[in-house]
Amino acid sequence: MSKIISGNLGYPRIGQQREWKKSIEAFWSGKIEESELHERLTDIRLHNLKLQKDKGIDIIPVGDFTYYDHVLDTAVMFGLIPARFEFAGGEVPLTTYYDIARGNKGAAASEMTKWFNTNYHYIVPELGSRKPEITVNKPLVAYREAKEKLNIEGRPVLLGLYTFLKLSKGFDNAGLDGWIEQLLPLYVQVLRELQEAGVKWVQIDEPALVTSVTAEDLGRLTLIYDTISREVPELSLLLQTYFEALSSYEGIVSLPVAGIGLDLVHGLNENLEALRRYGFPSGKTLGAGVIDGRNIWRADLYRQYELLQELTKLTQGADIIVQPSCSLLHVPVSAAAEVSLQPELKDALAFAEEKLEEIAALSRSVSEGKLDELFQKNRKSLESLSADPARNRENVTLAVEQILLQPSERKSEFSVRKSLQKEKWNLPFLPTTTIGSFPQSSEIRSARQKWRKGEWSEQQYDQFISEQISQWITLQEEIGLDVLVHGEFERTDMVEFFGEKLPGFAFTKGGWVQSYGTRCVKPPVIYGDVDFDAPMTVKETEYAQSLTDKPVKGMLTGPITILNWSFVRSDLPREKVAYQIALALRKEVEALEQAGIEMIQVDEPALREGLPLKREDWEGYLEWAVKAFRVSTSTVQDTTQIHTHMCYCEFHDIIDSIQALDADVISIETSRSHGELVHSFEEHTYPLGIGLGVYDIHSPRVPAEEEMISMVERALKVLDPELFWINPDCGLKTRGLEETVSSLKIMVSVANHFREKV
Ligand code: GLN
Ligand code: ZN
Repeated sequence: MSKIISGNLGYPRIGQQREWKKSIEAFWSGKIEESELHERLTDIRLHNLKLQKDKGIDIIPVGDFTYYDHVLDTAVMFGLIPARFEFAGGEVPLTTYYDIARGNKGAAASEMTKWFNTNYHYIVPELGSRKPEITVNKPLVAYREAKEKLNIEGRPVLLGLYTFLKLSKGFDNAGLDGWIEQLLPLYVQVLRELQEAGVKWVQIDEPALVTSVTAEDLGRLTLIYDTISREVPELSLLLQTYFEALSSYEGIVSLPVAGIGLDLVHGLNENLEALRRYGFPSGKTLGAGVIDGRNIWRADLYRQYELLQELTKLTQGADIIVQPSCSLLHVPVSAAAEVSLQPELKDALAFAEEKLEEIAALSRSVSEGKLDELFQKNRKSLESLSADPARNRENVTLAVEQILLQPSERKSEFSVRKSLQKEKWNLPFLPTTTIGSFPQSSEIRSARQKWRKGEWSEQQYDQFISEQISQWITLQEEIGLDVLVHGEFERTDMVEFFGEKLPGFAFTKGGWVQSYGTRCVKPPVIYGDVDFDAPMTVKETEYAQSLTDKPVKGMLTGPITILNWSFVRSDLPREKVAYQIALALRKEVEALEQAGIEMIQVDEPALREGLPLKREDWEGYLEWAVKAFRVSTSTVQDTTQIHTHMCYCEFHDIIDSIQALDADVISIETSRSHGELVHSFEEHTYPLGIGLGVYDIHSPRVPAEEEMISMVERALKVLDPELFWINPDCGLKTRGLEETVSSLKIMVSVANHFREKV
C-alpha cells in the first residue's frame, strides 16, 4: 500500500508586507546594521517554517530561503566568487555577497537572467574565477536551525549540479565535464555532512531536466547521480523537476535516486502519458506536483483527487508526496488580505498560504479516503467565479471564434505599404524617434499619488499631465526628432495602465511576487473576458498631436506582453486570452487612427518570455503570438504606419517570427548587448523598417557620439539604409531630464552626420 503525505518545495521569501525587501533595502541604505538584518530575516524564515507546519505540511523545505537569490547562494556556497570582488577565502562577507548581485564602485555586478520560463531572475554564476571550495553548507545550517529553534525536521533543498552548471557561464577549457569533475566532490561533501547530521531526505532541484536533454547530458546525469548514491548511500534524494514535463522520462526516472518529483500541472499531459507508457520504477517515491505553483487560482480538488487516485494505480503502490508543481516562490503570500476584490474573485484565489491548505487537505483526503470540506468550498468558489458575467461575455467569445477563422493580414503587403507610406510621411533619411516614455520625475509620481488619494481632482491631474506632454513636445522639437511621442506620463506601468481600463482585469492589494533581488512586482489578474470599453490613449495622443506638425506615434502595449506579465485565468487556453486582448487593442488602434493618429506603436517586449522551455514547442506558441499581434494591428489603412518595439535581447532565433509580425517598423534593444544582434542580420535579410537601439538606456551615462556612429555603421552594413531608423534601446522613463535631452541631441546629430554623407 502506498503512503500518501504532503510536502512543499519552497516558500515565498518576501513576507506578507514585503518585510524581506524592506529590511534588505534598509540595510543597503545604511539604516540598519547587519545584525539587525539577520534578526529580521531570521524572523521571516522561522515564521514561514512554522506556518507550513501549522498548515499541516508533512515535509517542509529548509534552505530555500535566501538573502537575495538561491542561485547566487549556491555559487557562493561553492566559493565561486568572481575574481573582481577580491575574495580571499574563508567565510564570504555579506557585503561581498551583495556586491556580486549589485556591483560596487570598482566591479560590475554579475549578469542576471530569467529563471526558466518564470518572471524570477537569478544571478548567473561565473565559473573559473576561483578554485571552488565549500564556504558554508547552507542546507545544513538551515536544517539545524529549523530543528533547534522549531523542532522541525526539515528537508534540505539543494540546487542540483546539472542545473547549476547549465545556468552558469565561464566554462573555459574545462568545459561542462571538467566542471562536473571539479564540483561533484564538493556536492558529495555537502550531502555527506547532511547525512552525518541525521538528514534522511534531500530535495535536489533539477529544473533543467525539463529542457531538452541530450544523450550526452543523460550520461552526465548518470555520472553525477551514480557517484552521489555510491558516496552517500544512506541519503534519499528527491530529484525534483518543474515548469514542464520531463524531457527524457525513461532515462531520468531510472537514475539512482529515491524519489522523482514531477510537475503534474504544467507538464501534466506529457508526464502522465509517460507514466502510463513506461510505468514508474518500483521502490521510488513520486513527488506529485498537483497544485499549481505558478498561478493564483484555487484548485479543483475533486479533479486533483482523481488524478492522485490514478497516480497511485500507475505507480503501483509507490509512496506519493502531494506537493505544489514548483516552489511557491512564484505566487504571492496570502490572499486573505484581498478584501477589496469582489467576493467571487477573492474566494477563488489561492496564494501560497492557501495552496498549503489545499496540499494538506488533498493529501489527508487521499490517505484517509474521506474528502475534506475544502473540496466543496473550492468547487463552490470556482463555480461562482465561472458563473460571473465578467467571464461570460458572449460578444467576446464570438469575436474570438471569428478571429480563428480569418487570416489577419494588412490590406496590402509591405512593398505596397512602403511606397504609400513614404509618400504620406515624407520622412528624412534615417528618421529619428524614441520608444515612448520620457523621464518620470518625482514630481510626476507625486502628482499621481495626489490624484489617486483624491487630493487632486481628475481635472487637476489631467491639467498636470497635459503640461508635461506640452513641455516634452516642445523639447522634442528643439532636439530635432522626426517622429514624436507624448511621453507616457499618465502611466506607471505599461501593463497596469491598460489593465486598469480593460474590463476583465483586476488588481490585488498585496499580490506581490519577487522578480529579482528585492524587486517585487504585482501582476494584474486577468479573471474575466477581456473587452474594450472606451478609448484609453486617444485623449493624450490627440492632444500631443495638436501641438505639433511632426507626426506623434500612438503608444500601446501589445497583447502578448499584457498576457505574459499578468496572472491569467486557467479555464481558457492562453491563446484565447491573447486573442481577447488583441481584439480589445484592435479597437484602440482603430480609435487612434480615427482620431488622426496614423503612426501607432504596439510594444511587445515580452514576446520572447512566453517561449516554452523545449525548443520543439516554440513554433506553436510563436504562431498564435504572432497572430495575436496581427489581430491588433492589421485592420488599419495602408498608409498607417504600425511600429513595434522589443527589448531584453536575444532575437536571433526568433527573427522569422518577428518578421511575421509584419510591423512597418520595429525598434529593438541592441546597444545593451553591445550590438550582438547586428550579427543576426548578416545571414538574415530583414525586409521591413527597423531601428536598432543606438544607445543603452540603463545607465545615466551620456553616450559618446562615436559610439552611436559605430553602431549605426555596423547596422547599415547589413540592413537597408532606406528602411533604417535611429532610436535609443528602450523607453526613457527611468532616466533623468538632462541626460535624456543631451543623449537625444547627440542621437539627432548622429543622424545628421549620416544624412550629410549621402
Ligand atoms: N513604450 C514603452 C516605454 O517607452 C516600452 C517599454 C519597454 O519596452 N519595456 O517605456
Ligand atoms: Zn524596451
